[in-house]
Amino acid sequence: MFAVWAAKITEKVSVRIFHRQGVTWAGKIALKICPAILTELASQVKKEIFIVCGTNGKTTTNNMLCAAIEAEGYRVVCNHTGSNMLNGVAAAFALGAGIGGNLKADYACIEIDEASTRRVFPHFKPDHMVLTNLFRDQLDRYGEIDITMKILKDAMQSAPGMKVIVNGDDALSAYLAMDSGNDYVTYGISEQVTDDKDSHEIREGRFCKCCGAPLEYRFYHYSQLGDYACTKCEFQRPRIQFDASGIEIGSGIAFTVEGRRIRADYKGFYNVYNILAAYAAIRTGGLKAEHFNEMLARFNPENGRMESFRIRDVKVMLNLAKNPAGFNQNISAVMQDETPKDILIVINDNAQDGTDVSWLWDVDFDRFKEDKIRSVTVSGIRCYDMGLRMKYVDIPAASEPDVEKAIRQRLSDGCGNLYVLVNYTALFSTRNVLKRLEGEK
Ligand SMILES: [Zn+2]
Repeated sequence: MFAVWAAKITEKVSVRIFHRQGVTWAGKIALKICPAILTELASQVKKEIFIVCGTNGKTTTNNMLCAAIEAEGYRVVCNHTGSNMLNGVAAAFALGAGIGGNLKADYACIEIDEASTRRVFPHFKPDHMVLTNLFRDQLDRYGEIDITMKILKDAMQSAPGMKVIVNGDDALSAYLAMDSGNDYVTYGISEQVTDDKDSHEIREGRFCKCCGAPLEYRFYHYSQLGDYACTKCEFQRPRIQFDASGIEIGSGIAFTVEGRRIRADYKGFYNVYNILAAYAAIRTGGLKAEHFNEMLARFNPENGRMESFRIRDVKVMLNLAKNPAGFNQNISAVMQDETPKDILIVINDNAQDGTDVSWLWDVDFDRFKEDKIRSVTVSGIRCYDMGLRMKYVDIPAASEPDVEKAIRQRLSDGCGNLYVLVNYTALFSTRNVLKRLEGEK
């Protein structure tokens, strides 16, 4: 009880000033006072514990799953802010507990950083793991994808009763689920949605993880997601249980799964996967998901995942893009909007971003070479690296290291439709600037 109080006080005092850092401290203090707090509180979850892992889409998928379960009338504990390492997970449970020190939750929805699974799993064993995808992230933070896969496999095998809800369109994630020996269910898209011929995306996992032979793809959705089979051994895309069909992507998203038409008002193909993952998870957990569409209508993909602002007469869209696959998907989402637009790219290289920005060279920035893109501005600590990257694809870009100045300039001389693409640590500062400007008269 004392640990819960300490966590609540720490969070109250620090979160307003330090944002996510405050949540992390709350968890750290709770664990210091009571090392068993996470085990204790997790055991008080009445029904089931879901965790969400994978390179991209964790926060959106996890928050959406939480909202979907709440919409069915249950109480859920969730790390909404995306603090997904051990301290953040401990904080979610401690802050979710009542002042008596007990948790009154039916379900838990917890996103966990892949590398942190080995620190979290000793505290509790989840009932379900959603595995969204495995893309190359910032190199210096995670090392090779193989290391991440090994860590996840160990975590899965340490929880043999845990069912994996896996993206079957990703050969790496599907292989991992099969290889772990855990029970698994699959979600995916069996129809070809986009004509992917023009993309020069770097694709991970083009080789079979079983035998090393090249994989052959019937089609790609994006990055390495698609319909694949090994050219030598038996390994192939598994049968898909939650199969989305009749996909529409444009000003909104729609698809059919289990005979239900699902609709949402967001952009971006990747959101089909986020929604489908949340749906597959809630259904695998045995819930009816009768209020799923209502939930989507209310749901706001928070924290810079396609967040919109209106500043004076300018429409501003903010989106997080922290690795090549995420950035390429963001570019696709921007290009879906066929009206004229300005682009602002903010790149930092703080510790949490990964100090190596060489991944920028794996992003298809040449797709910005189009009439509807009225201007490109680069900003942030590494704006000159970003500027150089644009120079190599022959796209003129203005450099302004100061984010607020860059935004103010485009607000006053732009075409009234501004897309702001930022990496991790740039998100919070940029979001604060946009919020403040929105409040100005
Ligand atoms: Zn093979």
